[in-house]
Amino acid sequence: MAHCPECFKRVPFKTIFFALYPVWVTCSYCKTKLVADKFVVMEGFVLIAVTVLVCVALHLTGFPEIVKILLALPLVVVIAAVGTYITQLKGTYRRRGNKANRLPRGF
Ligand SMILES: [Zn+2]
Repeated sequence: MAHCPECFKRVPFKTIFFALYPVWVTCSYCKTKLVADKFVVMEGFVLIAVTVLVCVALHLTGFPEIVKILLALPLVVVIAAVGTYITQLKGTYRRRGNKANRLPRGF
């Protein structure tokens, strides 16, 4: 389960789903900056590959261009939602501990 190591709450679906880069998220409860494990990174690559394959497959169909675009959008959303679900289920997050975060304010 994708839990925040600070407040032990589950990282919400929308936090992962709407993150530009879901490996790096901010806990919506305690605002701790979190980083996902390698599983989530690998999952990201697999999802990108799946998205590309789906788009190529769609491109090869005989549908008109507008239909392809209208089909591609929900498909990408579904892939992202499935990815988010897997991340919540199997991914783990730990505190993002780079040097910049540890330095006191003003440095
Ligand atoms: Zn938290």
